[in-house]
Amino acid sequence: MTDTYLELVNSGLTKKLAAQLGLPRPARLRRHRPGDPLLDGPALVLGHGPDADAVATLLSSPAGGPAHPHLDDAAPAVLDGWDLDVHRHPAPDVRYAAVVLVLTDLAHPDGLAGPVLAAASTLKRLRPGARVVTVHRPATDADAPAVAAARQGVDGLLRSLAKELRGGATGNGVVVAEGVPVTAPSVVATLRFFLSARSAFVDGQLLEVDSDAGELPADWERPLAGRVAVVTGAARGIGAAIADVLARDGATVVAVDVPAAGEQLAATANRVRGTALQLDVTAPDAGERILAHARARHGRIDVVVHNAGITRDKLLANMTPDRWEPVLAVNVDAPLRINEALLTSGDLVDSPRIVALASTSGIAGNRGQTSYAASKGGVIGMVRATAPLLVPFGGTANAVAPGFIETEMTARIPAVTRQVARRLNSLQQGGLPVDVAEAVAFLASPAAGGVVGRTLRVCGQNMVGR
Ligand code: NAD
Repeated sequence: MTDTYLELVNSGLTKKLAAQLGLPRPARLRRHRPGDPLLDGPALVLGHGPDADAVATLLSSPAGGPAHPHLDDAAPAVLDGWDLDVHRHPAPDVRYAAVVLVLTDLAHPDGLAGPVLAAASTLKRLRPGARVVTVHRPATDADAPAVAAARQGVDGLLRSLAKELRGGATGNGVVVAEGVPVTAPSVVATLRFFLSARSAFVDGQLLEVDSDAGELPADWERPLAGRVAVVTGAARGIGAAIADVLARDGATVVAVDVPAAGEQLAATANRVRGTALQLDVTAPDAGERILAHARARHGRIDVVVHNAGITRDKLLANMTPDRWEPVLAVNVDAPLRINEALLTSGDLVDSPRIVALASTSGIAGNRGQTSYAASKGGVIGMVRATAPLLVPFGGTANAVAPGFIETEMTARIPAVTRQVARRLNSLQQGGLPVDVAEAVAFLASPAAGGVVGRTLRVCGQNMVGR
């Protein structure tokens, strides 16, 4: 499952050779290690007005610093600063680790030129693994045409800019619903996620923040402290990585997988000091059994991650029921049934989080994957319609859609196809299970309470689809 090509183009003689031949040179990505600083260099905050000022203050104030003057009494006291070296104008010769474009006050496409061209002047000198993040409002039917044009323009700009960045740098956007302040917990938390090394394989994405719900953590290294999280399909692959990351972030983990994977499941549960539950998620009483286990062993349940998933790929012309049905049963029927049990149990009371694994195949489609894409498109619809049911409890449901991730699932793809598939994104490499896990952990955190029914792609800006 290692990417030998990536290793070769980043070491010694072969690195030089690849450069001379003009071959693609995927960079080693900056990934999160507890205790590392948020950024390894200065940040540039561009844009005018109170929102840009508030973001600059957030980034530059010392931790535990004063609340921001723009906050009124009704707003949550969220601005515990991040102590970064923040510039408000590009300085020549400075290599920025991040450029944040605060564009919430755009009224016309003309307003783009100033901040965007200022950002442009920094791009050739960005640090490896740098971050470009836009913060803007969504274009809606209620906007004046010029306002909607400006806002929608940011989407196109960001997606194109992300395709131009090199050296493991990424570009992503926080889309803040009208009326939600840029100091709302989920705006702050999404901005931090995009700036951090936790979003290594998230590129070219725009994540909407729908409300000012959510609560910032006392400690950004342990945002899940005190939370109990269930992860299905946790014996191996992405599910095992999710269990690891949730535990690292402070959660107590219930690891679920089929009895046949019992040994690996026990290994995951032991590693994360959680508990194991042997369960086929397609069992009619799967939801009740998860609830009973969580109540008996941990006294509560806060987070459920629907990760268990299977493929039985076949062209639709050759499809048979024994290939179609299990894929739908595991990937979408089981999460639907388990959610139903959770929602009617009365146990989901304290800002619950449901996070389900979708796939870029469920968005863009993939030849030979009609059943899988139907199930994963289904997951995206499921979270959108489930999220409002959780809002009364401060809860959310969201999905993560991975692209090409280096796992046993993708190791089975024939070598040449695999080699091509993993290069077809802006970062020119496959993601790692931990990259998906970081996105899941972010959406599972109390701070993400304002992200409601959304799907976040972890795909390195896959060339396929949006
Ligand atoms: P994997 O095959 O390595 O692991 C899946 C796990 O789910 C296994 O441990 C398996 O035993 C478990 N599982 C399967 N059916 C189950 C059932 N009925 N009940 C309980 N557990 C069950 O897969 P992975 O690559 O780690 O993928 C994890 C998730 O991410 C899946 O939902 C998959 O569709 C999705 N995904 C993966 C990729 C990728 O590139 N690997 C891309 C997009 C989406």
